[in-house]
Amino acid sequence: MDEQEVKRLEDSMQLHTYHKLPIVLERGEGVYLFDKSGKRYIDFMSAYGVAILGHSNVAVIEAVQNQMQKLISCHGSVYNEARAKLLSKLKLISPPDLQHFYLCNSGAEAIEAAMKFARKVRRKKGFIAFSGGYHGKTFGALSVTWGEKYREPFAPLLDGVVFGRYGDVEQLEKLPFEEVAAVIVEPVQGESGIKMANQEFFNTIQSRCKETGCLMIVDEIQTGLGRTGKMWGHEHYALRPDIITVAKGIGGGIPLGVTMVSNKVAEAIELGDHTTTFGGNPVAAAAGCAVIDFILSNRLIEHSRSLGKVFRERLAEMSNQKLYKESRNMGLMAALELRIKFMNVLDEALKHGLITLYSGLNIIRMLPPLIISKEQLDEGLDILLQALKKTGENL
Ligand SMILES: *Cc1c(COP(=O)(O)O)cnc(C)c1O
Repeated sequence: MDEQEVKRLEDSMQLHTYHKLPIVLERGEGVYLFDKSGKRYIDFMSAYGVAILGHSNVAVIEAVQNQMQKLISCHGSVYNEARAKLLSKLKLISPPDLQHFYLCNSGAEAIEAAMKFARKVRRKKGFIAFSGGYHGKTFGALSVTWGEKYREPFAPLLDGVVFGRYGDVEQLEKLPFEEVAAVIVEPVQGESGIKMANQEFFNTIQSRCKETGCLMIVDEIQTGLGRTGKMWGHEHYALRPDIITVAKGIGGGIPLGVTMVSNKVAEAIELGDHTTTFGGNPVAAAAGCAVIDFILSNRLIEHSRSLGKVFRERLAEMSNQKLYKESRNMGLMAALELRIKFMNVLDEALKHGLITLYSGLNIIRMLPPLIISKEQLDEGLDILLQALKKTGENL
């Protein structure tokens, strides 16, 4: 099939819910992607943060192939070694208070489970969420997602969701923590453009939860597994959540989501409360094991932390560009906020072999694979810098 045919088929039959880049990807290798014509791109998108180990990681391929030959399907109602191993590895990396796991297939599903569990424990229905927050697009997850344009066409959503302002410490005192099941928060807001709140904000959430018994759900779907330079984004703020949600990179590209919960939550959950057919299937479990092993044995957390410093310096250097407003990063999660809409810069970067993400209308967002080398990070940022210069000249 040629490129035009691929585009024609997708455009004519897939529902138009995705904004598409004008390229057809064929294969990947490490931090690089190749389109049908063989053109190479450096990948700062990582399939929205999924490809933390880059593309075609040999350890993941081998684990999946081996498991496929043994057993592909095994429902959660039957025991299986791949699942048992995944659970043991999750226990190695999960926060010490969160040692029980619900396995599912995506971020939104991990959030749905978290929300149901919180209601069951607290016997209260509401949630506190925050401006700019993104938690997925199923009904429950959408109810705590900020974007009005995503929510409005599907109302009514869940009752009792109150949005606070992300980063507003004073307002936290007025939010109804005593009346809701849980507060749900991202340690760094990914979808809204790598937005951060300060230590005091998180301290106050922690103390309000302690005072009122409100559960704390920390959404680590984008920030988890070393993305921010620590295993979990919430470690930067010394939070002690009751529940965390994990997905995106955990399956090495195979759909896998995890809801990690405390003893107290685990004790409240009973037979049949929440299940899903594919959750914890052997292939996803084998992939998850390979990902966790690879992160630990290659010290990717430390790598992400040290490259985060390089990222910061390089982004600061770009500040002499007239289109530039501000840059933000934590580890290998970064954003460059522009004074103009990003479209021309993204197009120009793509032309020169860089695929990157965006947020809103003027934020370039970067989530390179955690395996990226300093030279490759420089290579991608050089392309971005050139794209900025060129766009600046053409204005
Ligand atoms: C991507 C994302 C989700 C939703 O995950 P899906 O797998 O797309 O359902 C939820 N929360 C955060 C923070 C995310 O980045």
